[in-house]
Amino acid sequence: MLVKKQIRGLPAYAPGKPIAEVKREYGLDHVIKMASNENPYGASPKVAERIAMVASETAIYPDGYGTELREALASKHQVSEKQIMLGNGSDEVIQFLCRGFLSSNTNTVMATPSFSQYKLNATIEDAQIIEVPVTSSGDHDLEAMLAAINEQTRIVWICNPNNPNGVALSREAFRHFLDRVPKECLVVSDEAYYEYVTTDDYPDSVSLLSHYPQLVVLRTFSKAYGLAGLRVGYGIASESVAQAIDPVRPPFNNNAIAHQAALAALEDEAFIRLCKEKNQQEKQRLRAYFEKEGFFVYPSETNFLLVETGIPGNQLFQAFLEKGFILRSGEALGYPTGIRISIGSKEENDAFLEVAPTIFNTCK
Ligand code: PMP
Repeated sequence: MLVKKQIRGLPAYAPGKPIAEVKREYGLDHVIKMASNENPYGASPKVAERIAMVASETAIYPDGYGTELREALASKHQVSEKQIMLGNGSDEVIQFLCRGFLSSNTNTVMATPSFSQYKLNATIEDAQIIEVPVTSSGDHDLEAMLAAINEQTRIVWICNPNNPNGVALSREAFRHFLDRVPKECLVVSDEAYYEYVTTDDYPDSVSLLSHYPQLVVLRTFSKAYGLAGLRVGYGIASESVAQAIDPVRPPFNNNAIAHQAALAALEDEAFIRLCKEKNQQEKQRLRAYFEKEGFFVYPSETNFLLVETGIPGNQLFQAFLEKGFILRSGEALGYPTGIRISIGSKEENDAFLEVAPTIFNTCK
């Protein structure tokens, strides 16, 4: 087969195991997924109401430019509509950026471990990948990343907070970094977990766009907004960057129902605040438990925890799976003896905490 050399043998993205598959495989009636950092409280009730209103409008193509959603996002972020890049999930915006800026004679710099899609998409574009290990505290090693940038570097990725460890970069560190990155190199700040961040020391990246035209900020409706199933994410960039890559966007990349759902979700900020509060409480509870077990837990500004247990990640993953809990093994995420767990609802976490001590005792 004459498939491109870059994708020959390349493993496809391996998402968290779907609930239905686990139920079938293990003959379980009840399975709790704590693997993909979704919102356990779903979406604002306004979303389902809006979807019901537009549910019959399926015969007509959506507004390919996403005018209404662009306007709402532009107004929310105080930027121009032309600065918004709408994607079928922020995954797709990552793809646009790679398609638009990377090719075989370029390179891209990223932290490792970090979100897998930067590397995958850059590999498909045949760019050279420069991975810079995170520090022992799980932070991006910004000095080493700066040192790795050269004339061929087109994109440097900052995942803030970082997936899979949840660690966030401070405002000062980010600003200092931006000051030193060459102007020709894009800096992508992937802020998929933005809504969950509680530290005051987090960068207000959107406000930095006017000072740093090479900055691109990624956000998503898949996490706190509870729309992972509808696939809506976006980037905010300078007008010239956003417009330059618009031709790579497929026609009608967001569906009409998703547009309306995102608009309704944006109208309910109270729902987001509530989810953030509950996430914070539940995260403290899970963290306290893991620490009591004697495990190291990375400081997380997200809706998940990366726990360093010392037990092979796949072994723990399997043990929890058999009891009806889908977690994420650290083995595929760069933490061989880690496990990543999304923060569930109180009931989900109660159920997890009931089975966890026995499982850990057996595996230790
Ligand atoms: N960036 C990060 C850091 C993520 O964790 C995820 C989701 N796993 C994404 C981007 C992609 O999210 P989506 O495509 O659902 O917007």
